[in-house]
Amino acid sequence: MRIGVLGGGQLGWMLAMAGYRLGLRLRFLDPNPEAPAGMLAPLAVGELDDPAAVDRFADGLDLVTYELEQLPVETAARLAERLPVAPSLRALEVAQDRLREKQFAQRLGIPTAPFAPVTDAASLESAVRAIGLPAILKTCYGGYDGKGQQVLRRPGDLDEARPMLEAGRLILEGFVPFGRELSLISVRDRDGEMVFYPLVENEHSNGILACSLAPAPGVSPALQREAERCARALMEALDYVGTMTIELFDVDGRLVLNEIAPRVHNSGHWTIEGAETSQFENHLRAIAGLPLGSTGLRGSAAMVNLVGEAPPLAALLGVPGAAVHLYGKEPRPGRKLGHVTLTAGSAEVLAERLAAIRRLVPKP
Ligand code: AMP
Repeated sequence: MRIGVLGGGQLGWMLAMAGYRLGLRLRFLDPNPEAPAGMLAPLAVGELDDPAAVDRFADGLDLVTYELEQLPVETAARLAERLPVAPSLRALEVAQDRLREKQFAQRLGIPTAPFAPVTDAASLESAVRAIGLPAILKTCYGGYDGKGQQVLRRPGDLDEARPMLEAGRLILEGFVPFGRELSLISVRDRDGEMVFYPLVENEHSNGILACSLAPAPGVSPALQREAERCARALMEALDYVGTMTIELFDVDGRLVLNEIAPRVHNSGHWTIEGAETSQFENHLRAIAGLPLGSTGLRGSAAMVNLVGEAPPLAALLGVPGAAVHLYGKEPRPGRKLGHVTLTAGSAEVLAERLAAIRRLVPKP
């Protein structure tokens, strides 16, 4: 089966690795000739919004998927006229627009932060009146890793936020006083079967994921069920096929949806070593019409991102049990260059290994 993937970053690189073992042939389209997936699979270089490049890419493919959510919907729609595209266009449309995403969740009875659309100074003021401060002003489209956001703490901050009004449609969200951030990775196949990984606890630094713990400590069966209820409702309503991630705030045991990612996700990288089937393999299984694999754990796992610069490989490999993944990208501040997954049969051993990695990769 020939599968085309739009986007060839590290997520594509890990999809290629999972496909390789199963004998699925993946091909990538990315504007960057140095895109990581090109190390493992054929890479077509072209803009994702160039119809000619997209049409050429689609020749000879059996189906198409994507590894980035800021894919132009027109591109996905153009491909969908010729080929199956998974996840669905609807999933892409909803997930790439923060306002649409929250409205969609609200209709399904999934709790979100209070929110209001903002298009100009007047609607910003009325949104602040309705929601109160502190609040976060975000661009509806295109923000990721904390970009395109501004926290408003006091009325004077509104003036500073005015330049953001030039950025197009915005959303004002009430500030959620969360205790921690969690994510749930779910997979739905073509027949509507679903599997869920255990909730993961995520720690961010400067808006970028720094570390994930799987399973998240102290998750009750009821909390896991509630997270799965949210994911199930979303995937069914979106007629979703593939791996989907939801980011959640945990507010004293109550879950609030922050974001939907219609793709494999950084907070699921630990599944390569830590779960019986990785999020990447399960994504390919789902879209290719193959049976989904077990999401059971092989032990506890922790994942640490290597952001901006990576310690020497030999030092990382000196930590017992460290599985090191380097994406072959040039170092640059704020850039994800790789990650390390640690697995262990006991919480004590995992904590020791994590401490050893932390000495090499200080919290940014
Ligand atoms: P996002 O790009 O929406 O995932 O936001 C990046 C980070 O900002 C999140 O991981 C949270 O730490 C924080 N954040 C975003 N939205 C809110 C909110 N409504 N309340 C509190 N913190 C938030």
